Amino acid sequence: NKNLTNDQIKAVVQEAYNVVKSDTGGKNADYIPYLANVSSSLFGLSVCLPDGEVIEVGDTGYVFGIESVSKVPTAILVMKQYGADVILQKIGADATGLPFNSIMAILLENDHPSSPLVNAGAISACSMVKPVGDSAGKWKAITDFLGQLCGSPLVLIDELYKSESDTNFNNRSIAWLLKNYNRIYDDPDMALDIYTRQCSLGITPKQLSICGGTIANRGVNPVTKTQVFDKALAPKITSMIATVGFYQHTGDWMYTSGVPAKTGVGGGVLGVVPGVMGIAAFSPPLDDAGNSVKAQKAILYIANKLGLNIFD
Ligand code: GLN
Repeated sequence: NKNLTNDQIKAVVQEAYNVVKSDTGGKNADYIPYLANVSSSLFGLSVCLPDGEVIEVGDTGYVFGIESVSKVPTAILVMKQYGADVILQKIGADATGLPFNSIMAILLENDHPSSPLVNAGAISACSMVKPVGDSAGKWKAITDFLGQLCGSPLVLIDELYKSESDTNFNNRSIAWLLKNYNRIYDDPDMALDIYTRQCSLGITPKQLSICGGTIANRGVNPVTKTQVFDKALAPKITSMIATVGFYQHTGDWMYTSGVPAKTGVGGGVLGVVPGVMGIAAFSPPLDDAGNSVKAQKAILYIANKLGLNIFD
């Protein structure tokens, strides 16, 4: 506990919003047509506190593509279904230092996809989700679990799913290379489709902050008060977020902010400060690694003002 009052936190979130709002750095993801067309000026910040209060500033009700942040809930689900050790046995929990879509993440680590928070490991994780062999059952398991983490259901953005499916050639090759190395535990095309669909789920900054709040609150959703996953899994997922959440910029980000956070090319960033808060920031323009520029600046501002560096 950092002895911060909710009002102090709220004031700092509002300040961060005001300071960062007019920043014009970065550009929307353009390799997925849907994402290129989202308004670049959207900006929302939301913080979920352990007592269930949710602070919201800006476009916190806007439904955007969750993209790679979806790798976090699916990794927790796999740990919940198989136990935390399975991550080390079947996927890995290492930094890759590589772009999110790197095929090298498989080849460099001895045929091992490195982490469930990069594309290769995430596709592996999707293949592991139970019930194996049942696409509809897997999809229900993933969306039900996400709904519990966020405290309300998420809806697929059909147009985004179509856009992603039409352009995911690199991910298709990752899925089949993983299959070659026995790192796919279901049908490879099905695992790829589940991965593509989970990336295309719509989420609001408010929902994303509650998801972060649930992780920060050791598996208990602060809003619904439901125990969504075992508390032993919270440090496991947070360690992986800290290790690879910003891809090749993860070390720089952790060195700068000290806040474990996971990004997605839809412009969302999910920050987890264990025991203190979940932070979500959303703004579409990205840096060269696919991480939202304004979201980074806003979270950094909040972290500095409130003293959230986990290493301090
Ligand atoms: N769907 C995207 C992809 O696999 C997700 C990437 C991301 O958000 N970094 O290419």
